[in-house]
Amino acid sequence: MAIRRLRYDDDPILRVKCKPVKEITPSLKKLISDMFDTMYDSNGVGLAAPQIGIVKRLVVIDDYDGHKHVLINPQIVSEVGEQLSTEGCLSIPGYYGKVKRPSEIKVKAIDENGKQFEITGTGILATILSHEIDHLDGILYKDKAVEFAEVKSTEDDLEGDEE
Ligand code: ZN
Repeated sequence: MAIRRLRYDDDPILRVKCKPVKEITPSLKKLISDMFDTMYDSNGVGLAAPQIGIVKRLVVIDDYDGHKHVLINPQIVSEVGEQLSTEGCLSIPGYYGKVKRPSEIKVKAIDENGKQFEITGTGILATILSHEIDHLDGILYKDKAVEFAEVKSTEDDLEGDEE
């Protein structure tokens, strides 16, 4: 188990367009495992590689049904509808925002074994997929937020999940 150092808001690495993963190596698998450790350590539901300073197109997600997803080189196949989601981000602690996202998103990616797959997310999973893939292009949710504010309460409000 290894927790990597999170990168925050004004770190320029969060603004880089990440490079595709070329090969699945033991060190990439270690990185994936560290990303899950880092994400769970901060009670996150998603983490993109640049958030720990790695400029690779790689995302990990734990959806609300207890499924872990590894998305290598994810590509958006289709986006349908619109929803207003409330989001936080492990790279922007203490803030939340409201963002317009597709209500359904279909993504094509490669898993940690090199197998291509498709995942369709609706509701919260659509938001997480869209939020994390944005990270790979140097986009933070606050860029798109129609509302962005500091979390006031130190109790209830902080229980929200962050991506
Ligand atoms: Zn984020």
